[in-house]
Amino acid sequence: MELESILLPGVEEKRPIVIAGPCSAESKEQIMATAKDLAGKGVKIFRAGIWKPRTKPGGFEGVGVEGLSWLKEVKKETGMYVATEVATAKHVYECLKAGIDLLWVGARTTANPFAVQEIADALKGVDIPVLVKNPVNPDLELWIGALERLNNAGIKRLGVIHRGFSSYDNKLYRNLPQWHIPIELRRRLPEIPIFCDPSHIGGKRELIAPLSQQAMDLNFDGLIIESHCNPDCALSDAAQQVTPEVLDYIINLLVIRKGTQSTESLSQLRKQIDECDDNIIQELTKRMRIAREIGMYKKEHNLTVLQSGRYSEILDKRGDQAKQCGMDPEFMIKIFEAIHEESIRQQMEIINK
Ligand code: PEP
Ligand code: MN
Repeated sequence: MELESILLPGVEEKRPIVIAGPCSAESKEQIMATAKDLAGKGVKIFRAGIWKPRTKPGGFEGVGVEGLSWLKEVKKETGMYVATEVATAKHVYECLKAGIDLLWVGARTTANPFAVQEIADALKGVDIPVLVKNPVNPDLELWIGALERLNNAGIKRLGVIHRGFSSYDNKLYRNLPQWHIPIELRRRLPEIPIFCDPSHIGGKRELIAPLSQQAMDLNFDGLIIESHCNPDCALSDAAQQVTPEVLDYIINLLVIRKGTQSTESLSQLRKQIDECDDNIIQELTKRMRIAREIGMYKKEHNLTVLQSGRYSEILDKRGDQAKQCGMDPEFMIKIFEAIHEESIRQQMEIINK
C-alpha cells in the first residue's frame, strides 16, 4: 500500500491524537457549545455524525446536509479540523463541497464491499484523510480490503478505527474488543495509524477510561471519543457520551508509555527470547519426528492413530506441570492441544500413505 505518514498537519505531535465530538449533530446550538468546550480543552479534531446508521427505522437518523454547515461554522469559529461519517457517494460529494477535513467509514459500511467501492470511486483524485472503522464482524481481511479499495482509488492518508465487534452475547461490552484483530492489523500494516473508539466498544461512559488506557498500552496512535454538551439528553448513544469536561479528565489521567523499540537492555532481553524460541522450535521438530516414528509403528501394528487415553494423560500432566511452574494451566493445555493436533495430522499422513 502506498501511504503518506501525516494524517493532518499539527495533530500527530503527541500521543494520543484525540478526535472528539457528539455521536450525532442535533442542533446548531448543541454543536457549537460542544465544539467550543472541546477546543478549549485542546482537542484538535471535532467529530459529529450527520447521517446516522441506526439498527431500526423510526429513530433519529441524523440531521443530514444541514449539519454540514454547522461543522463549517465550527471550523471557522474554533480552528478545529472537522470529521464526519460517509456511507454513500452522495455523502462524499456533500462533505467535499462543505470542506470537511477528515472522513470516516462506519462499521456497517466497511462490512459491505459494494458500499466501500462506491465511496472509493467517489473519492478518486481527491486528497483527504479517511479513517476506516473495523467491519461489525470480526473479519480482518474485510477491514484490510476496504483500506485497499480506498488506497487503489488514490487515498494515501489512511487510518483505522477499532470500534469493537458485534456479538449476540454482549454483557459487559456493547461491541467485543477482540484486541488481537487490531494487533494483527498493526503487524500486517505497521504504518497505518490506529485509533480506538472506546465509546462504541464499551457502550457506557464508565468504560471509556479503562478501554482508552488499554489502547494506549497497546501503542495505539489515537482515540475517538463521543462527547456531548449534555450527554444524558443526546438523541443517539446517550449512555456512552461524556461532557468535554469529563473527556479532558479522562485524557489527562491516561498513562502514556513510550513505544520505542530498542534500548540496550531491551535488545539483550530480546536476544534471550529469540534463543528460547529457537530452542522451542528445535524441540518441536524433534517431537514431530518421534511422532512420525510412532505413526509408522501404529501402521505396522494396525493401531488407530488417536489413542484418547494417552491424549488426556498428556493434557493433564502438562497442565499440572504448568501450575507447578507458576503458569496458567489453561494456556499450557491450549499449546499441547495444538501440538497434539499437528502430531495426529502427521500420523494420519503416514498411515494413509
Ligand atoms: C459513530 O461513530 O457514531 C458510529 C455510528 O460508529 P460505528 O460505525 O462504529 O457504529
Ligand atoms: Mn455513536
